[in-house]
Amino acid sequence: MRFEILTIFPGFFAGIFENGILRRALAEELVTVGMHDLRAFTHDRHRTVDDRPFGGGEGMVLKPEPLAEALEALGIAPKADRAATIQRTVERPDSEGGGGFNPRIEPTQPAGILQAAEDFNRSQALYQGTTSPAAEKLNGSQALYQGTTSVVPESPQNERGALAPEGSLSENPPPLPRTRVILLSAQGRPFTQSLARELAGLERVVLICGRYEGVDERINELYCDLELSIGDYVLSGGELAAAVVMDATMRLVPGVLGNEASGEFESFGVADAEIATAEDGVPRSQHGSGGLLDYPHYTRPAEFGGLHVPETLLNGDHAQIRRWRREQQLRKTLANRPDLLEGAALSKEDCKLLDAIRSESH
Ligand code: SAH
Repeated sequence: MRFEILTIFPGFFAGIFENGILRRALAEELVTVGMHDLRAFTHDRHRTVDDRPFGGGEGMVLKPEPLAEALEALGIAPKADRAATIQRTVERPDSEGGGGFNPRIEPTQPAGILQAAEDFNRSQALYQGTTSPAAEKLNGSQALYQGTTSVVPESPQNERGALAPEGSLSENPPPLPRTRVILLSAQGRPFTQSLARELAGLERVVLICGRYEGVDERINELYCDLELSIGDYVLSGGELAAAVVMDATMRLVPGVLGNEASGEFESFGVADAEIATAEDGVPRSQHGSGGLLDYPHYTRPAEFGGLHVPETLLNGDHAQIRRWRREQQLRKTLANRPDLLEGAALSKEDCKLLDAIRSESH
């Protein structure tokens, strides 16, 4: 999968990919990242990316033109043009690929695309000045990507029947095969683990990082499939939010986590019924979290600060350990995030346990 980051501060990301799982994901090219400096898509001497707000008021607003040029350089046309292109393709099912989405349709490219693509390549060159290994990795991946900036990646078709309806990425017409354009915004829908799972299944995710008072709203209207917020607070820029979205998503890309299954067993994970390994006879000491918070974890030493590791975890009885962990998940979720219980996948046994836990406090 590939992320494209549109930002006025590409240097912000230099350290983000240098450690742990993300470093490995990039090193193994399970994920690639394209960093696009918006100033490379300006045409004035001062490389202006912002301007004063219409209607007055505080602060500055990110101008639409550099963003639109950067998007077009990535082969991303306005949503209306994408829909029209897709419609034309559906009307001519014999054209190529036989109906439905034709993964090889080219987006409509307005005049100026070549210039923008050149600027785009120049922006990669600018970024190559950075010396950190992760930045070199980024540059390497961009080198791979150069020359294809205005070409739609070939991919299987776009249908993703399993997308969740709430905050789903499938609400708007698909821009390109398995590509989504996302505006980071405090006004966006909440970013969740299930959204991260959806993104991890895409081929390309474009993240637009706002600054100042935000991005000219027409960019959202014209190009974006989704506005995404990482929480109910206001950051000074979308870069940190983009880093959060990338981290949470990258680790769910197949092959990135050491233990494939661990994304299912942690907080906000899927229900047991959705885990393929649940029925293969391998003894498990965990449940799919089914939307609950994770249980507490312990490691050596068995005693620390006068506290002992719970006895159950030491006796090797997997069935007992599973039951204990499930109870802890229910306790923690009830205490810290009772709102999650409504949407959680709970068994009859879970419900009984919950009732028992609730009655303890009365
Ligand atoms: N005037 C805006 C805040 C702008 S903050 C408002 O009141 O909603 C500048 C930029 O930071 C935004 O354009 C956005 O890209 C990013 N940002 C701020 N808070 C964010 C959040 N909670 N989630 C995602 N992005 C955020």
